[in-house]
Amino acid sequence: MSYQYDLIAIGGGSGGVAAARRAAKHGARCAVVEYDRLGGTCVNRGCVPKKVMWYGAHIAHTIKDASGYGFDVEQKGFDWTRLVRDRESYIHRLNGIYEKNLAKENVDYLAGHGSLQDRHTVKVDDKTYTAERIILAPGGTPTIPEIPGAELGISSDGFFELTTMPRKVAVVGAGYIAVELAGMLHSLGSEVSLIIRKDHFLREFDDILSTTLTQIMKDEGLNIINNTSIAKLSGQAGEIKITTTDDRELGEFDTVIWAIGRKPLSAEMTPENAGVSVNDRGYIPTDKWQATNVDNIFAIGDVTGREQLTPVAIAAGRRLAERLFAGMTDRHLNYQNIASVVFSHPPIGAVGLTERQAREEYGDNVKCYSATFTPMYHAFTPHPQKTAMKLVVEGEQERVIGIHMIGAGVDEMLQGFSVAMKMGATKKDFDDTVAIHPTSSEELVTLV
Ligand code: NDP
Repeated sequence: MSYQYDLIAIGGGSGGVAAARRAAKHGARCAVVEYDRLGGTCVNRGCVPKKVMWYGAHIAHTIKDASGYGFDVEQKGFDWTRLVRDRESYIHRLNGIYEKNLAKENVDYLAGHGSLQDRHTVKVDDKTYTAERIILAPGGTPTIPEIPGAELGISSDGFFELTTMPRKVAVVGAGYIAVELAGMLHSLGSEVSLIIRKDHFLREFDDILSTTLTQIMKDEGLNIINNTSIAKLSGQAGEIKITTTDDRELGEFDTVIWAIGRKPLSAEMTPENAGVSVNDRGYIPTDKWQATNVDNIFAIGDVTGREQLTPVAIAAGRRLAERLFAGMTDRHLNYQNIASVVFSHPPIGAVGLTERQAREEYGDNVKCYSATFTPMYHAFTPHPQKTAMKLVVEGEQERVIGIHMIGAGVDEMLQGFSVAMKMGATKKDFDDTVAIHPTSSEELVTLV
């Protein structure tokens, strides 16, 4: 049986594009199907526009800090509309680069909604294409709760559509997106309430991180409302009231942002037509080779329910392409010890096991080294932010199995340290590394 393509990737986000380009580099005839702008969530409604806003918020902090260094600086205004306009042109350029890169590798770009017709046939709007192998990489979309008035709120997608700065905002949720959006809105000048249903946010992370960030946010005037679940929203756009499940009323807010998680976009691809299994949460289970239960169909990225991070989708996609088309028979992604950063203010960086996870796995063989300090930069600023770091080690050799940091610069610091951890570094290796002075990172190699 001959097929039009060796590989079709459904989804033109980070994972699908990376897999198709890598496969094409090794001689495969490939196509990518996408109905939206190329680049997926990360480029259009995620990492990229978020980081632009984060940089803006960072500058707002720097302006506030400047007086500590003798500058007589006054912030006369902040033009949200202009920043958003420039951000969108930047993204537009990136969309173009994605398209050019596909063309450069001879990957066909099939614009339209992709779905499975059978295990070798992909329908793109009203046309069909056949492929020997298919990769499902449709990504995900924000979850909106099923409560009365929920539609008065917006998701992170809606946040990136705001062309003027919201004045009074409620951000609902307790994960990456809630913490990042609340922090940047507050830094840019909105009045922000972060509403969390449990005791604290970022519960998946080591306690040192959420405790430190909660204190910093409170000190800087961000309103954190914990142990609060929302029963309904009422009012109208721009004047939204929140009623909690214990009958309290919060607001009015001009903007309510839902940041309560994301769900996979598997159903749109009609996986059932090819017999691809989907679990009860809509994720497509895969084995370590990214294989679904159908032997020529693979899945990568957010739709698999594993770490929902752009570099994870890219790494999984490239490795899969190399296994399938470059003869690298054992090539697959090891999902252990993947570092990630939360772009809060200040940022958080973490890799490996939290102290709690480590104690569950290794019991009394676990030891932690930690430090909380004011970095030198903040010795002069009017609103100093603490830095906190924790190393989790295991066994007599004190193998490093977790690194958790919050503070200025940790976002850039973590990558190198995670290489060391992945290579099996011990506490002694850290101690034997001569410090770089004066930096915050030197604390990690001088912990006692
Ligand atoms: P997350 O899964 O990170 O967090 C959502 C949290 O919201 C839940 O953990 C839960 O916390 C809380 N929640 C769930 N349902 C409700 C509800 N009904 N009411 C109130 N709170 C609720 O989701 P995000 O949407 O923040 O992000 C999705 C994924 O995107 C992340 O997991 C991450 O992988 C990725 N991402 C990565 C970023 C980065 O790398 N910097 C940035 C942004 C996203 P609890 O149980 O404690 O209430």
